[in-house]
Amino acid sequence: MFLDIHELQRQKIVFDKSFLPGRIDFGEEMRQVEILSVQGVAELVASDIHLQGTLRTIMELPCARCLEPTRCPVEMEFDLFYSPMVTIARAEEAEIRTADLEIGFYQGDGLQLEDTVREQVLLSVPIKSICRSDCAGLCPQCGQNRNFVQCGCHPQSEDSRWAPLAKLQIK
Ligand SMILES: [Zn+2]
Ligand SMILES: [Zn+2]
Repeated sequence: MFLDIHELQRQKIVFDKSFLPGRIDFGEEMRQVEILSVQGVAELVASDIHLQGTLRTIMELPCARCLEPTRCPVEMEFDLFYSPMVTIARAEEAEIRTADLEIGFYQGDGLQLEDTVREQVLLSVPIKSICRSDCAGLCPQCGQNRNFVQCGCHPQSEDSRWAPLAKLQIK
């Protein structure tokens, strides 16, 4: 859905959209597994596009410890300003503004809602999500998932936590 500044000059745009999985490209690291719904309103403030709303979906990404697909519910509010790209010409001012505020830029005649949705979802998903708080992860020696398999590998000797124990056993 394109938010056109010419339309925004006349009136604000209220949106209520649903995107099926696959409609928005989230890259290879994660995928959308439920419908993504986004509701909100866009309006023009001077030459900035002010975008406010909520979005929700469920993403799936590999557990940081065991690599099993892990569901990550996303439910968030956003309140964003987008300045026209020409503002970048005043580089110093732009730097100060981006540091202070959550501000983005739009090019040409407006903003693609899908781009904002992608960006917001990527920001809200934790970089290291884990399938559960007590996930045992992969065995560093044989690589099996220790949540499912008791592989029986001995802890590696270079693991310093076990070094005192190893000494004790030798004595
Ligand atoms: Zn895990
Ligand atoms: Zn093992």
